[in-house]
Amino acid sequence: MNILFLGAPGCGKGTQSKLIIKEFGIPQISTGDLLREEIKGGSSLGKEIQDIMSTGKFVSDDLVLSLVSKKLGQDECKKGFILDGYPRNISQAESLDELFIAKNISLEYVFLIDVPFETLIERCTGRLLCTSSGYIGNTDRGEKVGDKCEGGGELYQREDDKEETVKNRLNVYQEQTAPIIEFYQNKNILHKMIGGNDPALLSKKILEIIKS
Ligand code: AMP
Repeated sequence: MNILFLGAPGCGKGTQSKLIIKEFGIPQISTGDLLREEIKGGSSLGKEIQDIMSTGKFVSDDLVLSLVSKKLGQDECKKGFILDGYPRNISQAESLDELFIAKNISLEYVFLIDVPFETLIERCTGRLLCTSSGYIGNTDRGEKVGDKCEGGGELYQREDDKEETVKNRLNVYQEQTAPIIEFYQNKNILHKMIGGNDPALLSKKILEIIKS
């Protein structure tokens, strides 16, 4: 089962990926997470990535392609995977196609999660992540930075979830990522889903499509 989630920052790609992982036991490949890992490692590459990320711009196509290619080559991806946050422009989509051909992989589903931009700004600026688990919280649920999480970690705000950067990220999405929608529509594997405030309902609809 090879799945790709597409949508603007904060639309719920990460949350849906985690729900689908539970159902099928396949790994999530999130380029954002892989880049944040590199930053945590404290390398000079990590520092460069951090500087780019903090502006809301994209890191280089070559770098993300090499991260994805390495991940796809691992045994855990043999029975399938969920791509989250990659590709993000047409050039990346074309490189991914070439990679799939080389590795004899076929992409079965692309789910586009559509959410109005005003909602996304509110969601991203209120979003809180856990330092040790994949938990994603939000200030609109009364949670705040520093709160303890069930997994033992603490909630924090992503540097690039500050309002100005979120607006930049949405502009970059509109200019560079939105054209990919047509790219996958032409392949007849794109499913447009309306994202709302009920992740469980959305994942139920996604699972219905996968299982039909
Ligand atoms: P995300 O966690 O998916 O929202 O990604 C956070 C940031 O990581 C983005 O704003 C970009 O700076 C960078 N990033 C993630 N995925 C990609 C990608 N496919 N291409 C380029 N930059 C990326």
